[in-house]
This record gives sequence, C-alpha cells and structure tokens, in this order.
Amino acid sequence: MNELLSLSLAEISQKLQNREISAVELTEAVLTHISVAEPQVQAFITPTPELALEMARQAQARLDSGERSPLLGVPIALKDNLCTAGVRTTCASRILHNFVPPYDATVVKRLREAGAVFVGKLNMDEFAMGSSTEFSAFHPTRNPWDLERVPGGSSGGSAAAVAAHMAYATLGSDTGGSIRQPAAFCGVVGLKPTYGRVSRYGLVAYASSLDQIGPITKTVEDCAIMLNAIAGKDPHDATSVNLHTPDFRDALIEDIKGIRLGVPREFFAQGVQPEVAETVRKAIGLLESVGAEVQEVSLPMAEQSLAIYYILAPAECSSNLARYDGVRYGLRVGAEKGHIGMMEATRAAGFGKEVTQRIIIGTYALSSGYYDAFYLKAQKGRTLLRQQFDEVFRQVDALVCPTTPTPAFKLGELVDDPLAMKLADVLTIPVNLAGLPGLSVPCGFVNDLPVGLQIIGKPFDELTVLRVGYAWEQLACLQDELRMPRGLAKVLA
Ligand code: GLN
Repeated sequence: MNELLSLSLAEISQKLQNREISAVELTEAVLTHISVAEPQVQAFITPTPELALEMARQAQARLDSGERSPLLGVPIALKDNLCTAGVRTTCASRILHNFVPPYDATVVKRLREAGAVFVGKLNMDEFAMGSSTEFSAFHPTRNPWDLERVPGGSSGGSAAAVAAHMAYATLGSDTGGSIRQPAAFCGVVGLKPTYGRVSRYGLVAYASSLDQIGPITKTVEDCAIMLNAIAGKDPHDATSVNLHTPDFRDALIEDIKGIRLGVPREFFAQGVQPEVAETVRKAIGLLESVGAEVQEVSLPMAEQSLAIYYILAPAECSSNLARYDGVRYGLRVGAEKGHIGMMEATRAAGFGKEVTQRIIIGTYALSSGYYDAFYLKAQKGRTLLRQQFDEVFRQVDALVCPTTPTPAFKLGELVDDPLAMKLADVLTIPVNLAGLPGLSVPCGFVNDLPVGLQIIGKPFDELTVLRVGYAWEQLACLQDELRMPRGLAKVLA
C-alpha cells in the first residue's frame, strides 16, 4: 500500500499544497488501493471512480491557480443516505436502489465547493436503522481490524472506509449512535455535532428530531477540518441554527488544565464489559494527570434512554417513510393492482425486515388511544433526561465515558437478538435524545479490538469536546498503533 494513504487528512492536504503529489495522482493511488481492499471490506455501495478523477482534475486546476483550502483535492466518501446530484442514493434499501437525486444535500454541496474528491457512496444499515451494517439490502461490511467482525452501524461503511484508508474522511449520520459507535468499533474518530449545528437538508430522514450529520476521520484535527466545512445555518433546514460558526481548529490545544470532566456513573453500568470500563477509566486517569478536574456525576434518566428512543425513533420513522409509496421515488411493484395494491406490494417488496418492524411499532405507538401511553410518555422522559444533562452541565464542562459497552461483535452474532443489538447504542442514544455534541476517539484495545472514549459536551460546545479529544490524542500516542488495522494488514501482506 502506498504510504501516503495512511496519512491524516491534514497531512495529505499539506502535501497537495506543497505540490509533492497532484490531486490526480493521489486519487489514482486511492482508487488502486480501493480495488485491493474493497473486496475484503465491502464498505461501498456505489464507488464513483470516474467522478473522482474528474473532481481531482478540477481540484488540481484550482490548486494550480494558487487556491489553498484544506479539503482541496482530498479523496473522501459519503454515507449513502446523503443526496448526491447524479449519483444514486440508495439508503441501502431495495426501495431506493435506483433513486438518483436531482440535487446535492447541503453538506455535499459544501464539500464539493471546498474541492473534496468523492470516491463513492458508503454502505449502511437500511435507512440507518441498525448497529452493525448487516441490515443493508446490499451486503454486510467487514471490520478492517478483524474481517469476521462487524464495523458497527449504521454508518459502518463510513467508519470502515476510513479505517481501511479508502478515504481520508467520510460523512456519516447519527440518530442514536451511528457515527460514534462504528467509529469506536473501527478505531477511528467520529463526531455527532449538536442538533442544529449541521444542515440536514438532503439527508434522507430517519427520525428528524434526532438525526445529525457528522464526520468520521483518522484524527481529531481532521474532524475539526470537516466540521468547519459542513457546519452553519442553511435556509433549506429550519432546524439548523443561526449561530456563529467558530473555527473548530481553535480547539486543537493540548492544554486541558482546569477543564471539569464529569464521569456519569450510569454509563459504566448497563452491561459495560469490565475490560472496556477499565480501558476508559485509564484514559480518564491520564486526562486527570495532566490537569483535568474529574468528578463523578449521575444521570439517572439515562437508564430509560433505550426505552424512550425505541418509541420516538420508530414513531418518526413511520411518518418519514410514508413517502415511499411507489409513486414518487424508486421501486414500483404491482402497477396493475390499483393504487392501494401497488403501494402495499411496493412497500412489502422494498423494505427489509428491520425497517418494516419499526414502521409497524411506530405506527402503533402513534395510533389513537396509544399515543398518550407511549409517544407522549416517551417525550416527557426525553425532557426529563435533557433537564438532567442541563443540571450536570452546571457542574462540569464535558462528560467522559465509554462509547460502547463492548468492542466489535462477530458478523451474524446478534442479528437474531434484537435487544442485544440495540444495547450496542445504550451509551450513545442519551446524547441524541438531549441533542448534544458527542465525540468518539480511540482509547486503547480490548482483545486486540479498538475501544472508544466518548466525550459529550454542552449544546453547541463542540470546541470543548474537540479540545478534550485532541488532548487525549496527544497523550495517548495511539496513532502508530492505529495506522494499519490488523485484519487489513493480513490481506495486504
Ligand atoms: N442503532 C440505532 C438504531 O437502529 C441508531 C441508528 C442511528 O444512529 N442511525 O436506530
């Protein structure tokens, strides 16, 4: 493998700007590497090599004219629920297998304008519902650290592609953990921004009050660079917030003296594997040794998060997915059966089992007579949880805890155990319910598999979250160990 591929986005960007390599040469090297690694990892649904080369030529022309910007000429990739003009966007579903959007999502448009090079659309759980990428209607993706294991989900393709050096950065989406959990499983960095920080326009909706788009990268610095490019108010998304967007690279200072870190007790219970808890506690101890002030805190409502989420997310999904009716998008089956028959046949053929189950649960929870018992009650629980976070954030600047209770599990291990699968997100879901920013950074290994440290911040305080992540990264010196995932190393040897 070309050694340029294991560099970070910031490092490769310097090389492009210093003319040590051209955008076209770099893109060709990435595409060659994809042709070797992808048959093993299967991170992509739709690779776009021709588009990439065309974008690389355009980027090089901009570089040649003296333009400088950190994403100019850098190969990246996108989760397949982000609309890309002219490139099919499937959400890993049969119902959208041939859907070619006529427009770009706002984040895609911004990355395009910044001169990034798109190498393809990435695999995911169907409509982002799942935690392993096994619910893709196309194929599962494998974890580059151990090809028999899942990369996590739903942005499994996004995390695996970065870990396997098939892109310098990717975008994912996170409704209940789908950026942070796969980032933790694949030994990379993943950020879910505050709800409202990044426009959701052109993100195919799963649960609109929870969904956020964010970056998956090799380093915290790269995460800041990506967030700089995608954050900010968008007139097309009324929930994007009209706040000043800072330069997130300002967070990249090593000093965290006096930062108050809360360790939420409940995030070390709930089935957290003792070795994972120990690895994370060690990381917190190191942060304390360089001046962070650490204290234990409590968020009792966090224990109800899974129950709350699995009413609200399916309820919103049942409403959002009503639009796939065989009339407006993608698949149409049974055109001869009249309009109701056609819709039934289309939806039955187009949606997988997991998505169908959630639509049924959500529709039930919203139906008259059950609404108060389920949906309304869950909303009240959500408010209580948010209040508890507010309370805790009066005492601390950020929270630190594991991202997931265990490292990556085996392919096939949990597909028939829906509760166990859902527990993979038990530590990430509270953050979505409260709309907060959350970052996962690699913090060590358990049984040779990466473990993530989760850093949770106050609303719109990504700067502190990134600062703690950056400080940890400088302390940890894990970069060399993370450079070549073991499972992939075997394949490339
Ligand atoms: N695994 C959770 C779910 O299935 C979260 C998914 C996500 O964040 N998109 O809903």
